[in-house]
Amino acid sequence: MASISLQNIAKVYPGGTKAVRDINIDIKDGEFIVLVGPSGCGKSTLLRMVAGLETITEGKAKIGDKVVNHVEPADRDIAMVFQNYALYPHMSVYNNLAYGLRNRRKPKDEIDRRIREAARMLEIEQYLERKPRALSGGQRQRVAMGRAIVREPEAFLFDEPLSNLDAKLRVSMRGEIKRLQKRLGTTSLYVTHDQLEAMTLADRLVVLNGGEIEQIGTPLDVYHKP
Ligand code: ADP
Ligand code: ADP
Repeated sequence: MASISLQNIAKVYPGGTKAVRDINIDIKDGEFIVLVGPSGCGKSTLLRMVAGLETITEGKAKIGDKVVNHVEPADRDIAMVFQNYALYPHMSVYNNLAYGLRNRRKPKDEIDRRIREAARMLEIEQYLERKPRALSGGQRQRVAMGRAIVREPEAFLFDEPLSNLDAKLRVSMRGEIKRLQKRLGTTSLYVTHDQLEAMTLADRLVVLNGGEIEQIGTPLDVYHKP
């Protein structure tokens, strides 16, 4: 795990949209930070810059003590979890979990160890040979979490991971993500527009509005201000 530091970050898209500016956030080792705010406030732009999926127009992003502005996504030690799961439909769950590790030429027994361990944690051991289409939405989301976990990254980046699930499942998966993150101690940056989700998950919240930080603090600080 590692700290993440965003220093004076701004993003201007080609065409001129100023998506975010003056962003300063210091995320501690093992901390769970939630970016929250209305649609269009710049949450996903910020997350995608940390992931390396968007260029950074201004400022500096660090993971640990490494500046990552010009580091390719595949060379950043992060794992992302998306709302659409991003699973390979023609591959079994096992192969979905193994794919990235095989690309990184991890030894076979190491890959197998990591997959068994993650599958046990996520209670998907009995589904390893199935294709994603034979799983429920909640099970697919667990596999998506599994793909992130097996990488043993320095940080998890979550992009509205629960927004495709029904309300009941969302609440139970929320608890599960929180438990897993605490157990693994992996620094996490989580994007949602759902205030309740944000409050439940966050060690600290970053409230964005119109591309700027409106508030940073614990859920108590942010939602119980007089
Ligand atoms: P959020 O995730 O909070 O909904 P976004 O980061 O997606 O917000 O968007 C922030 C602003 O940047 C919005 O005005 C949006 O229209 C704009 N934007 C997002 N992606 C692009 C893009 N690829 N090109 C141009 N403008 C974009
Ligand atoms: P994988 O990420 O499973 O190793 P690839 O090695 O083909 O798959 O990577 C394709 C690109 O997508 C890389 O830039 C990689 O970082 C990114 N990518 C795919 N899945 C994830 C994930 N779960 N977390 C972070 N990045 C991912």
